[in-house]
Amino acid sequence: MKDLKQNVRPKILIVDDDADFCAITTLGLKELGYDVVTALSAGDALDIMRTNKPDLVLMDIALEEQFDGIQVAEQIRSDFGTAVVYLTGHADNFIVRHAKTTEPFGYIVKPVKLDELKAAIEVALHNARTESELKNLNRRLEEANLKLRDFAHVVSHDLKTPLRGIRRLTEWIAKDCANVLTPDGKKHVQQITERVDRMYSFIDKTLEYSSVEDKDEDKSVVDLGELVHSVIETIDMPENVTITIENQLPVYECNETRIAQVFQNILGNAVKYMDKPQGQIRVGCVEEESFWKFSVKDNGPGIEEKYFDKVFELFKTLVPPDKGGGTGIGLATVKRIVEMYGGSVWLESEPGRGSTFFFSLPKCEATSENEKSTATATVTK
Ligand code: ADP
Repeated sequence: MKDLKQNVRPKILIVDDDADFCAITTLGLKELGYDVVTALSAGDALDIMRTNKPDLVLMDIALEEQFDGIQVAEQIRSDFGTAVVYLTGHADNFIVRHAKTTEPFGYIVKPVKLDELKAAIEVALHNARTESELKNLNRRLEEANLKLRDFAHVVSHDLKTPLRGIRRLTEWIAKDCANVLTPDGKKHVQQITERVDRMYSFIDKTLEYSSVEDKDEDKSVVDLGELVHSVIETIDMPENVTITIENQLPVYECNETRIAQVFQNILGNAVKYMDKPQGQIRVGCVEEESFWKFSVKDNGPGIEEKYFDKVFELFKTLVPPDKGGGTGIGLATVKRIVEMYGGSVWLESEPGRGSTFFFSLPKCEATSENEKSTATATVTK
């Protein structure tokens, strides 16, 4: 849609095969400060749209044939994005319903009073301006997001290349100078390697977080039971920790990688922060009327209530990196993905006794009412 300037005289196109109506309305509207052009047929209207670019179209519904005005309005909306207000002598339900599908900016029943027409025109112009600003804003936002994603990729690549070099050099130093390094020297070399690895993980996770933005990314019907099993396979699991899938998980239409990231981050944390000799993690799922509610319960250290919201914020970590904490990006990524799917994420916890992370995913059309995973609920590791 073209930008509508508030200070210039708005240009109105009247499309009506009643020449007298066109002439009288044109006079009235000109007196009220509008520029007016008229078209007596659909063909003329489309020609004027191309050459004169009006700000608003007043469209007679019963143009030539019975509903021809609605078809022309549809074409005007799709080709030019211009706002349309219908004029009609027939306001029966069927016509109104049909006209509504073309998202008009107003509907006026003839005979038209000039002051009512002016009010309708002003409201329609205002709404058209708002729509146009919103579209511009959305376009600019999309462009900015794209640039940001490109920027994140470039920065990630440019940072990783020297890091790779540093890592390789420290490996050489550790190997070639093993005989000459003091115990402190060896410890320092080891610390460099660990910090480089942390930096690597930070870059990857930041990139992962910044790439969560596209609702329309590829989706498929995913067996979440199988997905959780394969996520568990990728986790570096200590001997003392077991993960149990307690119920059958649904089959769900989603982007597999994104939902895997959700489970990976929550399960990965449950394992990483486990502080009990017998670590127990349970994955569950409850079917609610309009959504699936998933839970990951652990008997780890728990989280104080004052941090329940904080842990989902970007870069918020309760454990410093040198004490086993991470980047503070994992749960922020979980929140972003789950919210992108229209769900929400929250937690319950008792310090010292464990935490349960919950997230919901709205049921989607492709998943039939009770369709469940074929993967069995078993202790996995
Ligand atoms: P991090 O990279 O620090 O793990 P996250 O965003 O994944 O970042 O988690 C944020 C913080 O939440 C963590 O630093 C940790 O203190 C806390 N946390 C997350 N999961 C658990 C859990 N299962 N048990 C205890 N604390 C947790």
